[in-house]
Amino acid sequence: RLYNEVQELKGNIRVYCRIRPFLQGQNKNQTSIEYTSENGELVVANPLKQSKDTHRLFKFNKVFGPSSTQEEVFLDTRPLIRSILDGYNVCIFAYGQTGSGKTYTMSGPSINSEQAWGVNYRALNDLFHLTQSRQNTVMYEVGVQMVEIYNEQVRDLLSEDVPDASMHCVRSTEDVLELMNIGLMNRAVGATALNEKSSRSHSVLSVHVRGVDVKTESILRGSLHLVDLAGSERVDRSEVTGERLREAQHINKSLSALGDVIFALAHKNPHVPYRNSKLTQVLQNSLGGQAKTLMFVQINPDEDSYAETVSTLKFAERVS
Ligand code: ADP
Ligand code: MG
Repeated sequence: RLYNEVQELKGNIRVYCRIRPFLQGQNKNQTSIEYTSENGELVVANPLKQSKDTHRLFKFNKVFGPSSTQEEVFLDTRPLIRSILDGYNVCIFAYGQTGSGKTYTMSGPSINSEQAWGVNYRALNDLFHLTQSRQNTVMYEVGVQMVEIYNEQVRDLLSEDVPDASMHCVRSTEDVLELMNIGLMNRAVGATALNEKSSRSHSVLSVHVRGVDVKTESILRGSLHLVDLAGSERVDRSEVTGERLREAQHINKSLSALGDVIFALAHKNPHVPYRNSKLTQVLQNSLGGQAKTLMFVQINPDEDSYAETVSTLKFAERVS
């Protein structure tokens, strides 16, 4: 069959696809993206023309093309983010091969330009504005945590040598920027210049809010997890050994565990296999139940990436 059958999204799980633009120096004529539509359709074309599978159709809740801005992406994410102030738990993931724009979507290319801010800074900025505007009815406290998961080990990026991820109270966007700078620096310390570790670890920024209703004194809690996942590219087992192979196996294991958990939730399976990876354990309380999940599926437009692109799109299709 020429086209994959497409499922409508169920429940509290949604998937947005984002295609990054060609970067300077890339050949702009060779893309594997044949077509995208307003209602979330995406067609990729196989560069091997003699192949049987010439085109594949995928459907998501939304497709953001190469010219979409950080602001546009945020506007479609904001309602979900705001719902944490009403007591919801939300997880937002960026999934895709290294270089497909995961960090760009979640953090942005640079902290210094507000224009370029990704979802995480915009989210916190927006939450602070909202909590301030509601302060006569609900008093909110906001805390953040930042961890990295590497080879199935969780490392706190905001304080050293603490058994659990440390929680830091924040009162303004400036507080958050300062903490995130510390987190980014700590993340970079472990990475050697040649072997960029960040693409082989998951980073999780968690935002916890506690609101007290001024009149009734009732308390609500909500949380938001913003996850920049490790690169999803498959490594050739014949080419890597030792440390790289171990890393690849851990990434593979945790990404498939995540896929299995979301699949189970989307299909309302009675058993949800949270215990199979550190990542799904860390996020367990925020995946499932009333929680809402958004996956950004990041695509590199280059036709050389066709095989990885299809594998990324299939992962997303399975969980949606
Ligand atoms: P990943 O985190 O998936 O490895 P990055 O976010 O680092 O990928 O993106 C790879 C490169 O592409 C970076 O130079 C980044 O600035 C650029 N890039 C990614 N997405 C976009 C976009 N939507 N617009 C412009 N540049 C982008
Ligand atoms: Mg990255």
